[in-house]
Amino acid sequence: MKTIPPIPALVLAAAAATASLLGGAPSTQAAPLQAGAAAVDITPRDFPLQIRGSFNPPPVSEVHDPLFVRAIVLADGDTTVAIAVVDSCMVAREELDRAKAIAEKASGIPAARQMIGSTHTHSAPFSNAQHQTPQEIAYQKQLIDGIAAAIVQAHANLQPASVGWGGRDLPDEVFNRRWFLKEGTMPANPFGETDELVKMNPGALNPDLVHPAAGTDPEVSILSVRDAKRKPLALLANYSLHYVGGIGGSVISADYFGEFARIMPTRLGAPESFVALLSNGTSGDINNISFSKPRPPRQPFEQIRLVATKVADTAWFAERDIPEYLGDVKLGMVEREVALKMRVPTGEQISRSEEILKMAGEDEKKLPRLAKSYAERILKLAREGETMPIKLQALRIGDLVIASVPFETFVEIGLELKARSPFADTFTIELANGAGGYLPTPRQHALGGYETWLSTNKVQKDSSEIIVANLLEMFGELKK
Ligand SMILES: [Zn+2]
Repeated sequence: MKTIPPIPALVLAAAAATASLLGGAPSTQAAPLQAGAAAVDITPRDFPLQIRGSFNPPPVSEVHDPLFVRAIVLADGDTTVAIAVVDSCMVAREELDRAKAIAEKASGIPAARQMIGSTHTHSAPFSNAQHQTPQEIAYQKQLIDGIAAAIVQAHANLQPASVGWGGRDLPDEVFNRRWFLKEGTMPANPFGETDELVKMNPGALNPDLVHPAAGTDPEVSILSVRDAKRKPLALLANYSLHYVGGIGGSVISADYFGEFARIMPTRLGAPESFVALLSNGTSGDINNISFSKPRPPRQPFEQIRLVATKVADTAWFAERDIPEYLGDVKLGMVEREVALKMRVPTGEQISRSEEILKMAGEDEKKLPRLAKSYAERILKLAREGETMPIKLQALRIGDLVIASVPFETFVEIGLELKARSPFADTFTIELANGAGGYLPTPRQHALGGYETWLSTNKVQKDSSEIIVANLLEMFGELKK
């Protein structure tokens, strides 16, 4: 049992009023909730850079719209937690750990109480200075410092607050991108195999489509934060959609995640200090392409605006549905280190990859699509360690729990966590606290396809089961 410090009469009266509205027992919380939010611009300044999100990353030197790190800090007197969302395709654990250490030193929020997810925009620079150019090194530092600054500023902005949460469905903008194809129509994968059962992004209105390999998660989940005057302070949303794209060139853009953040203040009539964050849910196999029904062509950025508008509208409806804002919720957060076994290329796969990389002329022309790219990736994977240490987190805010997974996570994993969670509301932020590649389920591994290919997926094939079992145990710990 915690010892409860004396509570000022005014706070006690407010708590009693809240409790009577809800018909529940008065809270035993040590202090009323505090919240702060901040947004820090991380748009690159020195070019050229390369943007991440394709097999041949194009150079970029033009900005269409800015990139931000947005953060919320919540504190209940016992526990202080930070949630940050970064406009980046993905950020490695090593870089996030450096950002967390800086933020911990400046704010006192322990690294294990910081949950940092990437939006997975496909039009932001690489975070990892992979070619060590001066521009890349400068951007890596800007990104790490920006993440830390957003958390530190959100912490400095702490003020009395209340929170509510909920969700509404928006099924029309999420599509499972993995499809069964008619027998005999599966193209060879980079390893020359034609016996896979499903294909990723098979092409809209492809006549060989049979049905998708799984469903979608249509929910727009929200955590809404208000200040002491009940004005909107911050809103964290979560939607399981890979990204939107359709930007018509190589430019820097935060995709629909940035557009959502710009629209949301208008929806809520929020003050200028308000911060909206759109985190990515479990969308490893979910995108915005309508495969089976025709959709009219769009101008560059038109689809981004359209989807952002619909997600913001849905978040607005979800916000209106919140029955009560609570100023005395219980916060809790647990983090676990889990070591997953790496998939190891066989001797045969290594020698075949070496042969492929030597091929030229007619031999090279006969190779399946992406064969050279995967040969390189497999040789790289063979040089990596035996295990991948990952961080899993679960954050409790009243009867809402937010899980985090450092992978591009398949939708059925998020749906299973929602179904089996002991909390009234649950959502998962993917590509958080690291970026370990795709995370299919064992069932999806058996079907094959891009996300299951060796090196696109790096960890043991039952990793999703290990992760779900750990997160459910962590939910149980928080529920006590
Ligand atoms: Zn992607």
